[in-house]
Amino acid sequence: MSNLEPDPQEGVWGGRASVAAEPVRELLPGREVVLGTRAVGTSGPGPGGMVVTRTLPHRDRRMVGAWCFVDQYGPQNIADLPGMRVPPHPHAGLHTVSWLVEGEVLHRDSLGSRQLIRPGQLGLMTAGRGIAHSEESPQDRSPLLHGVQLWVAMPDRHRHVEPDFAHHPVPPVPTDLGVMVRVLIGELDGLTSPATVYSPLVGAEATLEAGVETRLPLRPEFEYAAVTLSGSVQVDGVTVVPGTLLYLGRDRVDLTVRSERPGRVLLLGGEPFDEQIVMWWNFVGRSHDEIVQARQDWAAGQRFGVVQGYDGDPLPAPPMPTARLKPRGRHR
Ligand code: MN
Repeated sequence: MSNLEPDPQEGVWGGRASVAAEPVRELLPGREVVLGTRAVGTSGPGPGGMVVTRTLPHRDRRMVGAWCFVDQYGPQNIADLPGMRVPPHPHAGLHTVSWLVEGEVLHRDSLGSRQLIRPGQLGLMTAGRGIAHSEESPQDRSPLLHGVQLWVAMPDRHRHVEPDFAHHPVPPVPTDLGVMVRVLIGELDGLTSPATVYSPLVGAEATLEAGVETRLPLRPEFEYAAVTLSGSVQVDGVTVVPGTLLYLGRDRVDLTVRSERPGRVLLLGGEPFDEQIVMWWNFVGRSHDEIVQARQDWAAGQRFGVVQGYDGDPLPAPPMPTARLKPRGRHR
């Protein structure tokens, strides 16, 4: 996924000062963002475009642990549409996490990876110092496309690592909690993901049958949020529907989730991200100058490599915003 806003603004966030120290329940609505071409004269998607709902970064909450970006899309019937068409674009300083509820996404990257990602399979791209990738609906595909893309900011001491792409099957595990759990990243209730990330983090999906209530074990030192992927799930008593994010704060040992109907909820958490980051377009850095350099490198065809096999031109970088932002340094 690429941030395809025509005029992305540079943002500075992270640091402990913005983290709730206690349990909270902040229901944050997402905003619709058009990926791909816009229909002429409208704000809606044109041919080949699609609408995603972005809940993070939100005006009131920028990060949850190292999680810094949450886009949900679908379920959309793409039987007679091009589906997802995200041309080659660069990333640096973050991981992208691709997770599908229905359908398929074909990932290609500048390391030469070509991987079909299906429901129940984690696509984890580590951008590190720099990578380019494309994402598209394959020719031979299911009618429905439904999924989420998440980004994870990498800590300073690891953010210049060599890029990597990993593809992990994540089978559902029946738990004593009475729900099926898939741990994408980190650990929950003794279940551990094989994925490599560089800060204490969890990303786990719970599948609830109708009428089930359970308590997911949490870590008091983590901050958490919940996103509903399907159905309508009560999280700590708050009804969370797809397209909204419930920020939960810290200092919780468990979390009550229940659902009248079958539903799926994604739990995101992590240690508060100490460092302040500068985020613009598809880059996470630490300074405005670094972002400018990354943009220049992409425009010059350097550093990020070349994605082979995508039928279309790479995405040009949008113009830099005029405002120049500075991180305020570490907060405790
Ligand atoms: Mn991307």
